[in-house]
Amino acid sequence: MIGAVIAAAGKGLRAGFEKNKLLMPLGEKTVLEETVRVFAESGLFDEIVIVASETDEREIQSLFPAFKIVRGGATRTQSVLNGLRASRANIVLVHDGARPYVTKEILSDCIESVKKYGSGIAAYPATDTVARAKDEKITEICGKENIYILQTPQGFYREELLEAYEKAPGEYPDESSLFAAGGRTPRLCKGSPQNCKLTFREDFGFPFRVGNGYDTHPLVQGRDLILCGVKIPHDKGLLGHSDADAPAHALTDALLSAAGLRDIGTYFPDTDEKYKGANSLELLRKTLELVKEQGYVPENASVTILAQRPKLAPYIEQMRRNLANVLAIPVSFVGISATTTEKLGFIGREEGIASYASVLLKKNS
Ligand code: MG
Repeated sequence: MIGAVIAAAGKGLRAGFEKNKLLMPLGEKTVLEETVRVFAESGLFDEIVIVASETDEREIQSLFPAFKIVRGGATRTQSVLNGLRASRANIVLVHDGARPYVTKEILSDCIESVKKYGSGIAAYPATDTVARAKDEKITEICGKENIYILQTPQGFYREELLEAYEKAPGEYPDESSLFAAGGRTPRLCKGSPQNCKLTFREDFGFPFRVGNGYDTHPLVQGRDLILCGVKIPHDKGLLGHSDADAPAHALTDALLSAAGLRDIGTYFPDTDEKYKGANSLELLRKTLELVKEQGYVPENASVTILAQRPKLAPYIEQMRRNLANVLAIPVSFVGISATTTEKLGFIGREEGIASYASVLLKKNS
């Protein structure tokens, strides 16, 4: 029987969050959910035990109702021991909850190593020179020859690791040191730099998202020309189900794209009577709500309008104010440029107007 003990009882103070970093989001799920998902989806484990602190026990149990949650101890070494005692597996892989980028391949290599050699310590060769130092003075240069960076998973026969706890009580940085202190020789297996431990706030991802959008509508007689909510005097206007405000639509798609959502047609279908003649700035406003639900707000927006005629320069300031107003950002954070296409293509022939938009979202804290 093969089991996993996932260490999640730390406080993760170095990341500087107000709560356990493992319960912070990494994309759509928490770090711990991402880590546990790899184990669960690998199909390699008969049992998964998660070690949680008293503070987080309930929250972690509610995230993983199917798994065994065990109360951690005062230190990592003690916490893992509690997990091992609760396990019924004969081969057990100990893993840091803060390593969500572990792969099925690393896990199966580790298991194979235990079966063949009695243990498996995920590791990869150091590429930088490693030194020991005290008070900023180097006391020993270890070079990089035969130097490995140790990670988790670290796999063992559970009974043998428990034996090491008895033989060599104390605190250890990881289970391989404990295993070695217990008189056995830990064996390396395949780790990877990608299987890194999330330690600092930056490891949780850059808190910005960029998005692009594009839209075009045909120019026809008998329609109003509306660009970024400004009604512009012209002999033609843009044709569409809504008010056909192409730059507003491009910006809407840029926002949705940046937030990882679907496109404008998904949320405001042109088959829906509700949106017939709709004011596109209203759609933009609703889109902003969808973006906020994803935990983001706009930082700045940049829009390009491609039109052979009319001259848009007199209206640009009003357009900027309109967009800034809807996005709730300063006018100076909205850039709008207008260009002709030198009479080339459908835009040059005044058959239509197109627009590109980019937006930067930031995490809404
Ligand atoms: Mg459109």
